[in-house]
Amino acid sequence: MITKEDLFNKIKEYNSEEVELVKKAYEYAENLHNGQYRQSGEPYISHPLNVAYILAEMHADGDTICAGLLHDTLEDTNITKEDIAHDFNQNIASLVDGVTKLSKMNFSSKQDQNYANTRKIITGITEDVRIIIIKLADRLHNMRTLEYKSEFKQKENSLETMEIFVPLSYLIGAYRIKSELEDLSLRYLKPDVYMRIQDKKEKLENECIPCLQEMLYKIEKLLNDRNVPNEIKVRTKNIYGIYKRLSEGHKLSDIHDLLALKIMVDEVDNCYKTLGIVHDVYHPINERFKDYICNPKTNMYSSLHTTVFGPNDRLVQTQIRTFEMDKIASFGLTAYWESEKGKARDLMQQDLKNKFQFFNSLIEINSIFGDNQEFVRQVKNELFSDKVYVYTTKGKIIELPKGSTLIDYVYLVDKKVADTMVGAFVNDILVPVDYVLKNKDRVKVITDELSFGPKEDWIDKAHTSLAKKMIKKMNGD
Ligand code: MN
Repeated sequence: MITKEDLFNKIKEYNSEEVELVKKAYEYAENLHNGQYRQSGEPYISHPLNVAYILAEMHADGDTICAGLLHDTLEDTNITKEDIAHDFNQNIASLVDGVTKLSKMNFSSKQDQNYANTRKIITGITEDVRIIIIKLADRLHNMRTLEYKSEFKQKENSLETMEIFVPLSYLIGAYRIKSELEDLSLRYLKPDVYMRIQDKKEKLENECIPCLQEMLYKIEKLLNDRNVPNEIKVRTKNIYGIYKRLSEGHKLSDIHDLLALKIMVDEVDNCYKTLGIVHDVYHPINERFKDYICNPKTNMYSSLHTTVFGPNDRLVQTQIRTFEMDKIASFGLTAYWESEKGKARDLMQQDLKNKFQFFNSLIEINSIFGDNQEFVRQVKNELFSDKVYVYTTKGKIIELPKGSTLIDYVYLVDKKVADTMVGAFVNDILVPVDYVLKNKDRVKVITDELSFGPKEDWIDKAHTSLAKKMIKKMNGD
């Protein structure tokens, strides 16, 4: 159980200046929720306290932690937004207000209301992503304590979590939250499946751990001998991740990253040095090497992945990254939180705009679709859907929603030539503009200056809002 001292100590670790402010917010919230209890029988304050603690683990700024502590006060007590602004500051008041506005989402209410609320949550990112991060922490703690709710509520909340909060946490790169939310949801949605996989996973883990330990010590020694600062951990795939692979038709024994070795070093140069060391002792499989340092995922995930023959010819995935990259892999966007105090919001919004591909697509979709239901459908199709990854002629990896065609590709990659595209060579084979892209396709666009520009039927052949919008513009609509 988390206590208030745990919270204060956690914050002291990275932000001792704001501990007093957080203490004040804690006392304030405790007072307001006095006499209220959760279904578990605990005093209500345990919920905001846990939410604040999850945020502190992500090294959130003081305002965000305070807002986490106060997030249910506007709804459940007599206090107003103005009171919070007066007793704390305007920032905290806006954050609490933002979270409160999102919290009325509820599947049992009218459909339209749902779409409107879902839209509010999703577009909230464009104003202040910290609101969504507080909401994610709130949802995570509610999911952790879901056992006290009715079976109906458990299923309803789990479904909503999978549909909205999991994709949102993926988009901002908060993998640690994403994988816990996935597992908690699966546990309530498909309890038998969950238990079965957990069982099998445990057995396989027990079988593999000695082999991974052996590798760990060997690699650790080699890195220490060469004075490379390092930390190595065994990382296990979450239950939902395994469930997904199994439902795609894979066998459990074929999932090579069920257990992986995570090697963290101090700097990028040493990642490649470590890669050399690993390959020197353990033979790699060529097709299983990925360089996400040169080609980060669109949610900023960076790492080297290589699958090697470990002891007893067991295949083992190793992930090599810097400590900094590991922080980004766990918390995503929020890894930047610490860098400059008081500027968290502006910096994060700026990062979202410049570095996260989904962000501009979201703004695009929001501007195109007036109708809430259509907006939600498009976001699910385009941002929350599975992705395909293709290569440009320069070897750059481009991420697109599954179902994207060459038309979507060209408007994303090079708008200047898009209107004159007449086809492309994909893996050296000539294909038409409505070719649907597949993973690992190599794309070389063919243009013709004399082409008459995008035809109107391109709109139906395009999958993304960005492409559709540009085509409409060219056709004078
Ligand atoms: Mn709450």
